[in-house]
This record gives sequence, structure tokens and C-alpha cells, in this order.
Amino acid sequence: MKQADNPYIIFTKLFDSLITSGCRPGHDEDTNRKIVVINLFAIVGMSITLVLGIKALFNEQLTLGIVLLSSATLFGLCKGVLLHSKLKNNHIIAPTLLVLCLLSLMLYLVIFGGVAGTGPLWIFVLPPVAMFFAGVFWGIITVGLFIALCAVILFTPGDALLIASYTHEFKVRLLLSFATVTFLSAFYEHSRQTSFIIIRDISEKFERQALYDALTNLPNRRGIQKFIDHEINRAKRQQEQLTLILCDIDRFKQVNDNYGHDGGDIALKHVADLFKEVIREQDGVARWGGEEFLFVLPTTNESNGVVLAEKIRETIQATPVQIKNTSLTITASFGVAQIHLENGLNNALSLADKALYRAKEKGRNKVLSASSLTP
Ligand code: GH3
Ligand code: MG
Ligand code: MG
Repeated sequence: MKQADNPYIIFTKLFDSLITSGCRPGHDEDTNRKIVVINLFAIVGMSITLVLGIKALFNEQLTLGIVLLSSATLFGLCKGVLLHSKLKNNHIIAPTLLVLCLLSLMLYLVIFGGVAGTGPLWIFVLPPVAMFFAGVFWGIITVGLFIALCAVILFTPGDALLIASYTHEFKVRLLLSFATVTFLSAFYEHSRQTSFIIIRDISEKFERQALYDALTNLPNRRGIQKFIDHEINRAKRQQEQLTLILCDIDRFKQVNDNYGHDGGDIALKHVADLFKEVIREQDGVARWGGEEFLFVLPTTNESNGVVLAEKIRETIQATPVQIKNTSLTITASFGVAQIHLENGLNNALSLADKALYRAKEKGRNKVLSASSLTP
């Protein structure tokens, strides 16, 4: 048997597609998780009310059967709304519909008693579902409203609003235990949301740490990669030019030797801040290595790249850095290379590196382009 024909795999795939329908890459993780639970809840709710509804009809409990089958239809509709609608807020409409449907069904069960007066047992489903779908605030309001309605129905003198009959003790304990479950559900949902926010913040922090350099706040090699890939694809699609500049600070070892490692760090931060000011909005700049930086210039050919590199070089030279009450003039050397899309990124990087090396050889504080290199 081929693996794809395995009934277990077919079932898992079908189940997966049923519960994840409506999830979108554009939604955040919590919204997509909610959609999965909405799907699951709608499927379970529909199945239970369908079976109990058919059973009630067989037992000639016509009203109960119709109510349960209507609920099954509404649960199915929720799933349908999620599955097929292009409504922008369907992930809000569907759970609202689910909670309202559940609320009405529960009120019906309290009033009519369901099978042999056991209907009120089902109301304990409401608090966790309402809290999860509506959040703690709206969940408490919804369930609070339900408790108030139940109290009126259960304690109206002479049981005027009740069809089923319950003892006074049962009514009091039903409401007390329901209020306890509501409080616990609100507390659990609050803890769940708090944990989710903490974990999301930590993961964002780690992601940033992995992609950004802590000293200069510039993207690191990994951080700029996405930008480079995006710009290469755009340049290919729109047949535009794309140019790289490699920049290396001159005699940086001496800065460290003379001013200490901390002084060197101040100088690195200083040049990085200058870079952020001098480049255009569409350009990218990253800390490529120790005292080496990479600029990525969309819609720019090599000669325009040289113009920008000159501007950066002049700015660095003209803006001394203050280290320990001393004003220090820093210079840097630059290698510029246009990415020829047929040759790839690494080819342009190696050409920019060669041009940079030549700029160092020629005495530093210079800009050299790949096309100026003699083969
Ligand atoms: P050249 O003009 O040829 O580039 O000379 P250089 O001294 O700049 O080059 P070299 O590669 O010999 O030295 C680079 C120095 O940069 C060595 C290293 O300790 C220092 N460096 C690298 N990363 C950092 C950092 O994060 N902070 C500090 N303070 N120094 C760093
Ligand atoms: Mg270097
Ligand atoms: Mg250097």
C-alpha cells in the first residue's frame, strides 16, 4: 500500500484540513489558533447536537429535537462562514455566532430541562468557550448576562418562567457552581493570554537578537539576507539595477590600541549612525563583519553607487567621533560592485571585496569600483 493510501494518513489530512480551514498566513498566531478551536468546537458542537436532536425526535420530544437540530445547523453555518466566506472579519463573526447560539441553547435547556431535567448540566460548557472566543472582558460580560438571565428565570416567584421543575437547593447550587466555573475560566483565560504575550515578546526579542547587531543596531549578515533576496527578485522582475558597497574602517586596530575596546565600540556606533542618516530610505545597510559594513542599493548602477560611496566616505571623514574627550577623525575605504543578476550575489560580493582591497592598497580613504579593476 502506498503511504498516501494509508487510511490513517488520509484521515489525519482530512481532519487537519477541516480544523485549519479559515486559517490565513496574514493572521497572527493567536488568531489562527482561535480559528482552529472555532472549527473544532463547531464540528464537535454540530455532531453532539445532531445526534441528540435525532434521538429526541425518535423519542417524540419534538420541540427539543427541533431546537437541537437548529443548533446543529447554526454550528454548521459557523463552520461554513469560516470555510467559504471572504468576509474580512469572519474570524470574529463566526465565534460571536457560536457563543450566541450556545447561549440560546443553554437558556432553552435551563427553561425546558432537556431530557429528564438534566439539561442544565450542559451550561458549564459556556464559560470556557465564551472566555476563549471573546476574551476575558467580553467573556465575563456575556456569561454575567447569562447568569443574570438564569437567576431571573430560576427564581421568578411561582416558577412562572420555567417549564421544567427544579428544587430550590438545585437552583442555588447550580448558579453557585456555575459562577465558580466562570471565575476559574476567566482566571485560566487571563493566564493563557498573559503567557502568550510573554512568550511572543521573548520570541520577538530572540528573533531581533538573531538578526540585528546589538552594538550598532544595524542588521547583521543574517538580518540583511532577506532584504537582499527580496531586492534581487525585484531587480529580476522589473529588470532594474542593484549595487553593493563594501566599507571597511581604516586602521581600526589602532583605534582599539589607542582608545581601548570600548573606544573602538564608540567609533563603530558613530559610523553606523552616520550610515543610517546618509543612505536613502530604499537602501539597506548591515554590519557585515567586525569593522566592515555592506550597503545594498536598489535601482542603482555601479557609477551611481560610487557617487553614494564617495558621499559616505566624505561624511565619515568630515564628522570626527568624540572618544574620552578626544575628537578622532576616522576614515574608511570602499569597494563598489553592481550585481549582474546572471552571475549572482557571491560574484558581486567578491568583486566588491577585491575593489575594497585595492582601495586599501592605494592608500585607504578611497572608493574603488569593480569595473575599474584591471583583470
Ligand atoms: P585596515 O585599514 O587594513 O582595515 O586595518 P584595520 O586595523 O582596520 O584592520 P584589521 O582587520 O587588522 O583590524 C580590524 C580590527 O577591528 C581588529 C578587531 O579587534 C577590531 N574589531 C572587530 N570587531 C570589533 C568590535 O566589535 N569592537 C571593537 N572595538 N573592535 C572590533
Ligand atoms: Mg576589516
Ligand atoms: Mg579595517
